Amino acid sequence: MQQLIERIKRDGVVRPGGVLKVDSFLNHQIDPALSYDMAKEIRRLFADEKVDKILTIEASGIGMAVLTGLVFGCPVLFAKKSKTINLSDDIYSTTVYSFTHQVSKQVLVSKRYLNPGERVLIVDDFLANGAALEGLCDIVGQAGAEVVGAAVAIEKAFQPGGERLRGKGLRIEALARIASMSDDSIEFCED
Ligand code: 5GP
Repeated sequence: MQQLIERIKRDGVVRPGGVLKVDSFLNHQIDPALSYDMAKEIRRLFADEKVDKILTIEASGIGMAVLTGLVFGCPVLFAKKSKTINLSDDIYSTTVYSFTHQVSKQVLVSKRYLNPGERVLIVDDFLANGAALEGLCDIVGQAGAEVVGAAVAIEKAFQPGGERLRGKGLRIEALARIASMSDDSIEFCED
């Protein structure tokens, strides 16, 4: 998506350890107009799919997920990152290793909001090693619901998550794919 690529080129800041900061429009301050255009692009890419629910993970994915839900006309559910390991019977849970915080966290979704047979589109801001998407797929599977696919704003294609999860049969659409990045340049994939 050219508009997103241009914005990353203009405002993205590369940090050590392969981290891209996009705090001015996606991860801290949010540009609603760009997020709405991203949501419409996700709708276009998944036009062939019936989607009952959008699922994301707190916190950075929520903004774009809400607008995606608006465009699809369906509810938006976000997995919560638990601070304790107190588990009750009425939740689905899985463990996700956080790329940015470098810790494993339990993520939780209430059974009340994810039902067997529902067709779920997963939305997130970044795809790096794939742990977040994989955890969300696991939760959908526990519910007996179906993953239609995953839409991410930015895929860092130099990290292995995209290839690994596509290899497992997950449909992933990325609005911008970064081939490589360094302190002074960000190269995007040609496709
Ligand atoms: P993965 O689970 O695919 O390794 O990483 C995806 C998650 O880590 C996303 O939910 C996102 O919040 C965070 N993340 C991974 N890479 C980056 C990055 O370069 N920049 C930012 N801001 N977040 C990232």
